[in-house]
Amino acid sequence: MKIPQYIYITEKKNETKKAFERVFQSEQPKRVLIVTSISPLMKVKWLFDYLLSNRTKAEKLLVEKSDKKALEKTVNRIENGSFDFCIGIGGGKILDIAKYASFVEKIRFLSFPTLLSHDGIASPVAVIRDGKHWSESRRAESPYAVIIDLKTVVGAPTASLLSGIADLVANLFASIDAEVFKEKNKKAYSELATGIARSASLFVFPRFSKISLKKISKNDLKHLAWGLVLSGISMSIAGNSRPASGAEHKISHAIDYLFSLPVSHGFTVSIGNVISAFLHQRYKKEIIEFNYSLGLPVLSEDIGIKKEEFVNAVLYASKIKPDRYTILEEKNLTKTGVINLLDEIEEARREVESRFERTK
Ligand SMILES: [Zn+2]
Repeated sequence: MKIPQYIYITEKKNETKKAFERVFQSEQPKRVLIVTSISPLMKVKWLFDYLLSNRTKAEKLLVEKSDKKALEKTVNRIENGSFDFCIGIGGGKILDIAKYASFVEKIRFLSFPTLLSHDGIASPVAVIRDGKHWSESRRAESPYAVIIDLKTVVGAPTASLLSGIADLVANLFASIDAEVFKEKNKKAYSELATGIARSASLFVFPRFSKISLKKISKNDLKHLAWGLVLSGISMSIAGNSRPASGAEHKISHAIDYLFSLPVSHGFTVSIGNVISAFLHQRYKKEIIEFNYSLGLPVLSEDIGIKKEEFVNAVLYASKIKPDRYTILEEKNLTKTGVINLLDEIEEARREVESRFERTK
């Protein structure tokens, strides 16, 4: 099991530089490859100016997608340039490519996320896309180091924070799946990993429903950052993504597969969180209030999928990762069962809506 050896959550540019300095001092990399894309290059120009100074012996490689071609390009560059250390600077796609290429080339990887949009920032899993509809989760290694600069991530669009929050809340439901069905899953159950994943979700759930993301405090942002890092660590400890991915992620993957909408990962997971809560009969009221007050989707209509179409996604979800037993397989819903479930959620949302209206 490998977990990050350095985790720095920094608040100022010079703290961030110092964090890199510490990693470099102890690792003494000979040649550093920075994998990034145009947007982070402009966003954190000061960091590139620092990293590309001769002292760190770094070069940069631009990738724009997280497909097999980008992966091949990165692997080749590492190999041909004899790089022994890789830094990924960017959103999830960039980090996935850099993480997986480093794993293939057996070199150390430092993750510097510019968005807090999901738990891939510190997880041992990389999603590599193949074509428009299909993406594949590949097992890699956790980053060797993670540096999160709070000023950088808070400057990102609110939607990215919302996405990260929903992905972290998913741990609560995934850990319930893991715990309740530990006997029915073939893979070993890790109490430690499940406990870490669940505790990490409590950093944001349900307290964050009371905060304004536009004025998010440094402390709250730190909680989100730590939560996502711990979520990644829980997957490394378990040796799979189970502590942080259950029925709610199957729903998210089904939506991705059937509709391939341009929405953040956390938004589809958010819909899955609600489904999972209602199937488990746990935190039903809390999750609707949480999503509703933060502006996260509750039902598929919130991201533009009609109810009739979404029914198919719920039915399809249990066919994903069949070896991971969740509440979806347990309930083995029929079409009518899904429609009744969605009606129940709709009803609960109406209630929350009218309560919010009254207290406005
Ligand atoms: Zn996720």
